[in-house]
Amino acid sequence: MSLTDLQQRDIDSLLHPYTNHHLHQSQGPHVITGGEGIYVTDDQGNRYIEGLAGLFCASLGFSEPRLAQAAFEQLQRMPFYHAFAHKSTQPGIELAERLLAMSPPSMAKVFFANSGSEANDTAVKLVWYYHNAIGQPQKKKIIARQRGYHGVTVASASLTGLPNNHRDFDLPIANILHTDCPHYYRYGLPGESEAAFVDRCVANLEALIQREGADTIAAFFAEPVMVSGGVILPPQGYFAKVQALLRKYDILFVVDEVICGFARTGNMFGWQTYDLQPDMISLAKQLSAAYMPISALLVNDKIDQVLKAQSEKIGSFSHGFTYGGHPVAAAVALEAQKIYQERDIVGHVRRVAPRFQAGIRRLGEHPLIGEARGVGLVAGLEFVRNKQTRETFAPEQSAAAYAGRRAQAHGVITRGLGDTLSLCPALIIDEEQIDDLIARIERALDDTLVWAREQGLVDV
Ligand code: PLP
Repeated sequence: MSLTDLQQRDIDSLLHPYTNHHLHQSQGPHVITGGEGIYVTDDQGNRYIEGLAGLFCASLGFSEPRLAQAAFEQLQRMPFYHAFAHKSTQPGIELAERLLAMSPPSMAKVFFANSGSEANDTAVKLVWYYHNAIGQPQKKKIIARQRGYHGVTVASASLTGLPNNHRDFDLPIANILHTDCPHYYRYGLPGESEAAFVDRCVANLEALIQREGADTIAAFFAEPVMVSGGVILPPQGYFAKVQALLRKYDILFVVDEVICGFARTGNMFGWQTYDLQPDMISLAKQLSAAYMPISALLVNDKIDQVLKAQSEKIGSFSHGFTYGGHPVAAAVALEAQKIYQERDIVGHVRRVAPRFQAGIRRLGEHPLIGEARGVGLVAGLEFVRNKQTRETFAPEQSAAAYAGRRAQAHGVITRGLGDTLSLCPALIIDEEQIDDLIARIERALDDTLVWAREQGLVDV
């Protein structure tokens, strides 16, 4: 049975976080003027815990002086140079070497860009270029997942599996397909085990590959954890079976680590947490702790060899961005990486994550929360009208959105996406701050319950 109808109904109600502000246009923007550690302040002097580390990215908080210093020093030393025509810069080279040393041994090259979207668009172009080069020009289709998020540029928005990122933008473009969102709690059938659900997802993926023709499927894109789509964790055994299919049909695997990369899931990368063997990896956000825009696409040796040979044949490799690998951004990213290492950020996340996840699980006992889920320092609380039936709220009466507004009133910036309230604080959060964060969210949930009762939306 296809999950598509169920998911379509569900994702039709999903508003992407980056578009939420359109709802509140009449109020004017909430102006954030400063930050300290995990907190930000607004122009009215209110202080908030940034519950999403901005957009899942300000890993070292909002006041790390070493990152500012790194930018300042690089601006004085060499404010700009590009990476075209055999040119490069010192911080770019050092950062690339560092990233490769942290990556699976199969990774051979790093391509720098300025955003996660650009890294993923680059991956799409390289998937196509590679298959032309190896004489398989028919192998061009790319499979991503419903509720996945990969960005907003033309190709990456096409990969994104959220309808509002497509609607009226004439997207997705041709050759982009979507398969099931593997969210067991929401899409598992009554009485279906997690293992049976995984088998159904994988069978549907295989059916899609066969229907389209395996010789036309070039690549599969996935986030280790689907954070923007509602913090959806892969069910047990899912990726092992998906990867077996990818190998069987000779399909490249592009792992989008834009949010999971750099300790978010309790390992340096999501590919480590879920035992993934990528052909390409996209990185952004926490790469520079978000202090400067920079992203990277890592490419394995098999693809790199082909790209090199083909570019020599053509006479150039004509892809690159003016600011790709900008030396100031690279210097800041390099400093962020040094800080991660010196302060053992992975060790820190592992130490505090159990406290965070225990708090989240406690919130899962709240009458409005159907599923409380998470890994490392990212979590989602999924709202339901009824815990037994898992019935959701209507999109126009979104309890998650209401709870997000109440959280802000209680001093936490976060957002409800669809039915899920997400939490993804700066990685430097300590246990006391975690307790404070959870307590504030609990107050927001209690307010939401009062509201839901007043609106006659719940029986509890
Ligand atoms: N990939 C993932 C998994 C993301 O979460 C995002 C942004 O949230 C992107 C790609 C796009 O990154 P950017 O907004 O930097 O283009």
